[in-house]
Amino acid sequence: MTAPHQPIDIREYPRPDLPPGSALLRTSSSEVCGTDVHLWHGRLAGVPYPIIPGHVSAGVIDAVRGPLTGIDGAPIREGDAVVFFDVHRTCGRCRACTVHRTPTRCSARRVYGITDPAAEGLFGGWAQAIFLEPGVGLARLPDTVSVDDYIGAGCGLLTAVHIAERAGIRLGDTIVVQGAGAVGLSAVALARLAGASLVIAIGAPDARLRLAERMGADIALDLAATSEAERLDQVRAVTHGEGADIVIEAAGSAAAIGEGLNLARDGGRYVIAGHYTDVGTSAINAHWQINRKHLDIRGCWGSEARHFLRALSILERHAASIPWREIGARRYGLRQLDAALADAEAMRIPKALVDPWV
Ligand SMILES: [Zn+2]
Ligand SMILES: [Zn+2]
Repeated sequence: MTAPHQPIDIREYPRPDLPPGSALLRTSSSEVCGTDVHLWHGRLAGVPYPIIPGHVSAGVIDAVRGPLTGIDGAPIREGDAVVFFDVHRTCGRCRACTVHRTPTRCSARRVYGITDPAAEGLFGGWAQAIFLEPGVGLARLPDTVSVDDYIGAGCGLLTAVHIAERAGIRLGDTIVVQGAGAVGLSAVALARLAGASLVIAIGAPDARLRLAERMGADIALDLAATSEAERLDQVRAVTHGEGADIVIEAAGSAAAIGEGLNLARDGGRYVIAGHYTDVGTSAINAHWQINRKHLDIRGCWGSEARHFLRALSILERHAASIPWREIGARRYGLRQLDAALADAEAMRIPKALVDPWV
């Protein structure tokens, strides 16, 4: 991706010389997520174009220099099916890392496929090979998790693990998830696994709502077929007239915020995770929607290694019964990425998979 609004360009790079503690991954699969569409439109600040997009990927180790271990200490060898945590270079020394304990706000932090420039090498999944530099968090793909399970879940599941942590879900909670994209669908599944008594998904189009039901939603409300007032009535009708204990915003639209504040009960919690890029200002009334409601509002930015490892554990246990792999709807080769981005933007598919060998 040479610059915003430009067609995807295919380039060749020399095979990197591996420094000690690094590896070269032969890419099996990567993804096109909502963030990639935003990158294509230039809506994320600080992106060093040209970049090789694709921040969550899976592959097979092609070459290793020196002994290499996964985050769990297990040895990583050539031929192993491996996945990696896309966030790297978090410094562990700055105030964000040490004093505030918010490493996702570390200014040294970089993300494969998003904030790594192509000029520095193979730091993205829309490629046949990925350079795993020293210090990148690696894990062997569990035997029971297929590449399609892992990439179907992808960055949406990692984000949803962090959201569930920020939401502090308790047994019996009623939960509304705004948005039925990859993040919202995973948030629905995790709300169900976390013991919610009722999970309500709000989104569109219809196919995504049907998938939301299969991911664990009890009720799916169609954004296109209902008004905001009707959705509020329907949520209150099933929550003792109160609204939901927890509302999760994974919609990424400015209009979702006012509605989400209204859908939460007095004393409830609202986690905002879909505004990864600036989509504009939301109109809110602080008296009615926050202060008087005694509402708890939390942002959720990026993810940490523990969310990556928990996502793997969740997939290991539940990928057979929760249809994460169906989020990854269609496969695209490197010469079809403009179409993949267009399909993702038009919401024709929940997520495009990238197969660099097609
Ligand atoms: Zn993503
Ligand atoms: Zn730091």
